[in-house]
Amino acid sequence: MTSRDILSRLVGFDTVSSKSNLALIDWVRDYLEQQGIRSDLIHDETGTKAHLWATVGPECDGGIVLSGHTDVVPVDGQSWSSDPFTLTEREGKLFGRGTADMKGFIAVALNAVERFKAASLDRPVHLAFSYDEEIGCIGVPSLLEAIRRRGIRPAACIVGEPTMMKLVIGHKGILCAHGHVRGFECHSSTAPEGVNAVQYAARIIDFVRLECERRYREGPFDHRFIPSTTTLHVGTVQGGTAFNIVPRDCRFDLEIRHLPTEDPHRILQSVERHCRDVLEPEMRAVAPDTGITLSVFCDTPGFVADPGSDIAVLLRRITGDNDSAVVAYTTEAGHFSRDGYPTIVCGPGSMAQGHKPDEFIEVSQLAAGDRFMEALAGALGRVSPPRPLP
Ligand SMILES: [Zn+2]
Repeated sequence: MTSRDILSRLVGFDTVSSKSNLALIDWVRDYLEQQGIRSDLIHDETGTKAHLWATVGPECDGGIVLSGHTDVVPVDGQSWSSDPFTLTEREGKLFGRGTADMKGFIAVALNAVERFKAASLDRPVHLAFSYDEEIGCIGVPSLLEAIRRRGIRPAACIVGEPTMMKLVIGHKGILCAHGHVRGFECHSSTAPEGVNAVQYAARIIDFVRLECERRYREGPFDHRFIPSTTTLHVGTVQGGTAFNIVPRDCRFDLEIRHLPTEDPHRILQSVERHCRDVLEPEMRAVAPDTGITLSVFCDTPGFVADPGSDIAVLLRRITGDNDSAVVAYTTEAGHFSRDGYPTIVCGPGSMAQGHKPDEFIEVSQLAAGDRFMEALAGALGRVSPPRPLP
């Protein structure tokens, strides 16, 4: 099997985040078993999704984690030229959902297992394939917990999101919270006797806007990022039932996209303080049973890697890329990095094609991914595998 054959199989499994990924995971497990590699599955609480963890080489500290997510974003409402779940080649490009983001990386990693075995590694290569990345990286914490429980300590992690095989050493983090304003309903003709949940939500939303604008003017700045500050905004609002009823409930979603060096929880606390110290006393003076809650539903850490770390030096040598890029999207690198693993994002394909209709990976990028894995096997193993690439 080639990387392309493997990619074709992987794309054939519809692993949109809302669905089970078990059919794909079972296929990967069988594939690895045929090569004598045992996999461990870590299921979610519903039993319909699983991470896969497998080790090539010795079970010991050190070595590298190759991290990829198995889920993909939906195709609903997108106009595709061919079936998104059938790998289709046109003009040197392989089309299909997840080809770039990021089944292409999983394919080259699986294809390299034979090479890793032939290299008689003295340090392990771990495969860590997760679920629920595309809905806020909410799956990977339980995978990291499982790694901790095994009592081994990998030396570094490569997250294979599509970077055109360039090194990405940083991205912002995201903290999101559901907001709920609980007001007091009454006839709109006596509006001052009620507590208007929509209007109090509007005041929180304006507080968030002002905080975002203040940061935009005053910082803190990190000019590697565009924009160079942490940003805050409210992306959704629902509230009220009729024009002539003072609304009881209003719900909204607040997002904080933060520089890796900033603690987003402290920013959220400043919003909470405004609610507690300014808004809630006013609300409760009218009706005591009112209030505001903010509950976090997504906490994806940002990350900045040390450009001089061993893994960064090794990947520069392999890829020839001497830049230190940062990107606008988030990845599981934030979680690996927060757990203390030196982490670099580097993988085949381009995120410019990710999440779009007619997503593709260039055939040449898949080949670049194969060469990368071959060089990695050579760098980690005692013997460089002699087999030339097809
Ligand atoms: Zn991705």
